Amino acid sequence: MAARLFSQTRRTFLLSAAKKPLSIGGIRFETEKNSTSKRRYLHIHGNELTARQVLREHAKLNKGNYYFVVGDKRMVSIGDCQIDPNRMFTREGARKSLDRFNNTKTADQIEGAMALLDRDRASFLHTVIPPQGGLMIAMHNNSDGYSIKDELAISDKISMPDPDNPRDFMLATNAADYDKIAKGRFNIVLQQSVRGDDGSFSVLAAGRSIRYVNIEAAIGNYEKQKAMFGFLEIVLR
Ligand SMILES: [Zn+2]
Repeated sequence: MAARLFSQTRRTFLLSAAKKPLSIGGIRFETEKNSTSKRRYLHIHGNELTARQVLREHAKLNKGNYYFVVGDKRMVSIGDCQIDPNRMFTREGARKSLDRFNNTKTADQIEGAMALLDRDRASFLHTVIPPQGGLMIAMHNNSDGYSIKDELAISDKISMPDPDNPRDFMLATNAADYDKIAKGRFNIVLQQSVRGDDGSFSVLAAGRSIRYVNIEAAIGNYEKQKAMFGFLEIVLR
């Protein structure tokens, strides 16, 4: 009992001691490090509360480096502009997102936001991208209007054993990872080849051959997202 208490206390201490700020162009991330591992975990949309809750619980028990975007909104401020943070990972994608969501801003304001991202992108990516052989897992939630059906046309492979729940699915960039997950009862697509740069982490990962899995579930679907995550951790070692 005493030994267990000690290890719990020590682990809590190590977790809190490892917290330090990380940012790109002023977009801040809370980091959490649980021991040493090649696993990286990302929560990139602040309004996706179920995903964040699932990931926070996961961080207590599973080794890896965890990154949580600060704030509770989907869009984040960059200079005078707004951007979808899952569109900032490449230069081309960031420009598209800035142009789309900042109609009232001047060209100089858009350029200012681009410069802030350009300044920090390489070092930010150096921190969050997993080391060779490692894996990045991102947690997302969706509302009505987005599902695996929107990904079918741009996917290399598709497995849909759960067609009645198209909003709950995974996306992998590595064929071997896809094959393992596709043996299970959850929907998954493989996107290994890049068909249009939207600046998302999945496009970055496909372009750089980074092992990446996105776990996407309907917002509020806590138990399902947790089950998908648990399955992933069992089959991907
Ligand atoms: Zn998202």
